[in-house]
Parts: sequence; C-alpha cells; structure tokens
Amino acid sequence: MIELAEDATEAEAYEVADAWLRRNLPGDALKAALDADWATVAAFLADPERGPAWHSALGAAGLSTPTWPKEWGGLGLSARAAGAVAEAVLRYRVDRGMSDFVGLALAGPTIIVHGTPEQKRRFLGPLARGEHRWCQLFSEPGAGSDLAGLSTRAVRQDDGTWLVNGQKVWSSFAHVSDYGLLMARTDPALPKHKGISYFLVNMRTPGVDARPLKQMTGDAEFNEVFLTDVHLPADALLGEVNGGWAVAITTLMQERNGLTGLPAVGPGRSDELLRRARDNGTLAEPVLRDELLRLVVEERVLQMTTVRSYAESGRDAVGAEGSIRKLVHAQFEEAAASLAAEVAPLSALAWDEGRQNSEASYEFLAMKQTSIAGGTSEIQRNIIAERILGLPKDPDPEKDVPFNERRRGG
Ligand SMILES: Cc1cc2nc3c(=O)[nH]c(=O)nc-3n(C[C@H](O)[C@H](O)[C@H](O)COP(=O)(O)OP(=O)(O)OC[C@H]3O[C@@H](n4cnc5c(N)ncnc54)[C@H](O)[C@@H]3O)c2cc1C
Repeated sequence: MIELAEDATEAEAYEVADAWLRRNLPGDALKAALDADWATVAAFLADPERGPAWHSALGAAGLSTPTWPKEWGGLGLSARAAGAVAEAVLRYRVDRGMSDFVGLALAGPTIIVHGTPEQKRRFLGPLARGEHRWCQLFSEPGAGSDLAGLSTRAVRQDDGTWLVNGQKVWSSFAHVSDYGLLMARTDPALPKHKGISYFLVNMRTPGVDARPLKQMTGDAEFNEVFLTDVHLPADALLGEVNGGWAVAITTLMQERNGLTGLPAVGPGRSDELLRRARDNGTLAEPVLRDELLRLVVEERVLQMTTVRSYAESGRDAVGAEGSIRKLVHAQFEEAAASLAAEVAPLSALAWDEGRQNSEASYEFLAMKQTSIAGGTSEIQRNIIAERILGLPKDPDPEKDVPFNERRRGG
C-alpha cells in the first residue's frame, strides 16, 4: 500500500501516485507510455502473465480503489484526491479498464454499503488486488428496463441454503468471471419490488452455465447465463431476505455514475479522433474540424462535470443526477462514433471481424451500446423527469399487486 494521508490534496495524491507508477512500471511499458506508444502498452497489459501481475501490483498499492476505506484495500481518499490518482494512472493507460468495471465500480461499492463484516473481509481485498473478476446477473429475457419484473427464483431450503433456477442475459464477461451479482425472486406473493433478494454467486458453482453471445462487432463478451438447480450457501445473501431492491439501487446508481468515466480530466476519445484526423489530413476540412473541436469541448465539459459531481456528492453518495451524465455521455459516444467514420471513411467501410481491422468500423458498430447498457437513455430520461424535475411517475396500476397475480407480457 502506498503511503498517502487520507486528507491528501489533489496535488499530493497525483504526485505520490505518479512517482509510484514511474518506479514500478516495467521499463519497456513506462518508456512506451511516455512515448505515447499505446499499442505497446496495450500488448503489455494483454500479456497473460505480465498484465495480471501489473494489475495485482497496482491494486495492492491501493491505486485501483483510491476511495475505498484503507481497511478494505483502498486509500480512503476524498473524491477529488481519488480523481487525481485516477488521472495519474490514466496518463500511462495502465488502469484495469472496462473488463473489471463490474467488480471495481459495482460489486465493491455495493458490498461496502450492504455487506456483513465477513463478506467485506472475503471479497473486498481480492477485488481491490484484481484477484477476482465479477459479472452482473440482473437482466433477463423478460426483464431489462423493468428489472423488478425478473423471474429467476431462489427458494430457501430447510438448512438455510438457497436453490436457484432461471435465466439471465447480456451478462458482460460472465464466461470469465469468478463471482456474479445476482438478483432473484424469493417471494412471488409480494409486490414485484418487494419479493427480490440479492446474492453473491460463485460462478463455478455447479448448474451455472455461461454461454457467450456474438455481437455484430465480432466481440462476444456478453453471455446468456442459465442457472439450473444452483445451490447457494446461506452467506451468499447480501442484505436482507426480500430486501434486494434496495441493494440493487446502490449497484444501479454506481453503474450510471461509473459508466460516465473516472473523475479525471485528461486526453480522451475526442483527442484520439483529432490525432487520427491530423494524421490522415482530414482535419483540414473546415466542417469536420468544426465538428471535431465541438466534440473536444463536449468531452471536456463532461469530464469536468464528472469531477465536480464526485467532489460534491462525496465518495458514497451517488444521486439520481448521475442519470444526466449517463444520458449526455451516451449522446457523446454516438456523436464520436459517427465522426470516427467520417475521419476514416474508407476503413469504416472495409470491415472485417475484430477491432484491429478497423477502429472506425468497430466504433460505429458498437455505438448504440452506451445508450442501452446500465439502463437505456429513455429510462434515464424517466429518472431525470421523476426524481430531479419532480414530474409525475410512470403509472403502474399493478404496483402493489403480488408478483404472481400480475398480468404478464402486457
Ligand atoms: C453493452 C451492454 C452491456 C450490458 N451488460 C449487462 C450486464 O453485465 N448485466 C446485466 O444484467 N445486463 C447487462 N446489459 C443489459 C441492459 O441493462 C439492458 O439491455 C437494458 O436495461 C435494457 O433492457 P432490455 O434490453 O430488456 O430492453 P427493454 O427493457 O425491453 O427495452 C426496449 C425498448 O423500450 C424502451 N422502454 C422500456 N421501458 C420504457 C419506459 N418505461 N419508458 C420509456 N421507454 C421504455 C427502452 O428504452 C428500449 O428502447 C447490458 C447491455 C448492453 C448493451
């Protein structure tokens, strides 16, 4: 663990993190990062031995979880100082990235708020050090936006253990995860939000079957996950029996907030597009240049808003305001993907499977993801309307009807 006082300022946090990175990054990776040779940095992280060893060292230093309490593997920093740490790590592009998003941004913070001391001890340290990967088993074929309509069942056995049956879908990285965050119905006689419980599932438990789904980008990081007679121990329950909705709200708020990026202001996606346009000469086209610069400004505003909202909300309180950034971020990502195709029109057309063949075509095909993942843009608009603007709620005449008496499929 690096030495850093919990009341460190942003400047102190950046300096200490930067010095640690320079001391500990292997020479070739450090040189590549300083030369902006990002392909070499990416190859270093993708190496099956060096990549995990690096992320483990980064985690053990507390640099992957700077806001977490020190006793659970964090640095206990304020949101602003933690943002400075994130900025230092992002400068070298050696952070854990999106494949660990569920663990770091969702599982950890949810366990910190709702876990028993034993669950915290068992899961948080390994998570901080990158020893466990996590996935989110929330969405189902019949329950996405209407998550509380989920029908995967968990039935308590006489010995206090649970028997789970059902199907999940769109579970990112489930096929390579060690643990999953599972929502399941534990009392169908209660109204839909009230009969749900939240479990921490070992993905190697017999009966858990994750099958990757191939997307139009060629990637297959999504899965459908079948749960057939899965036995879970009593201590897999997170929070109260039938109190899973409150636990899920913590996860969902962290998700909306986290999907907008880390609280750091540095070179981002628009800067990369500017670089491409400069390299291939398209930056000389006035209309395209104007659109690119507008995108740079939008990204900076989004980054600064993220920094400000983290600083104002504190490290645990994440409010409905995260939905505003989630919505704007989705619009930004779509605009960036469209511009990427204009900057490199030929490679955007000549598509073959895999990202390496054409960044622009990949980004174009993937552009809709951000307006769906973590709750669609329509749902974010509903949240903003209801919880921030105080407009009337979406009517649900069956809100208080027991789940098993509700009309289905309507
Ligand atoms: C990249 C990516 C990663 C994902 N990863 C995971 C994961 O790891 N784990 C997981 O559990 N899920 C994951 N998801 C699933 C995601 O949470 C759902 O796709 C999302 O919540 C929408 O649910 P749905 O697909 O069932 O669409 P539906 O809920 O069926 O929605 C269909 C359409 O109807 C609209 N709509 C629905 N209800 C309303 C309403 N009340 N008001 C207005 N419009 C409405 C929606 O906006 C949408 O346009 C992922 C999705 C993506 C794209």
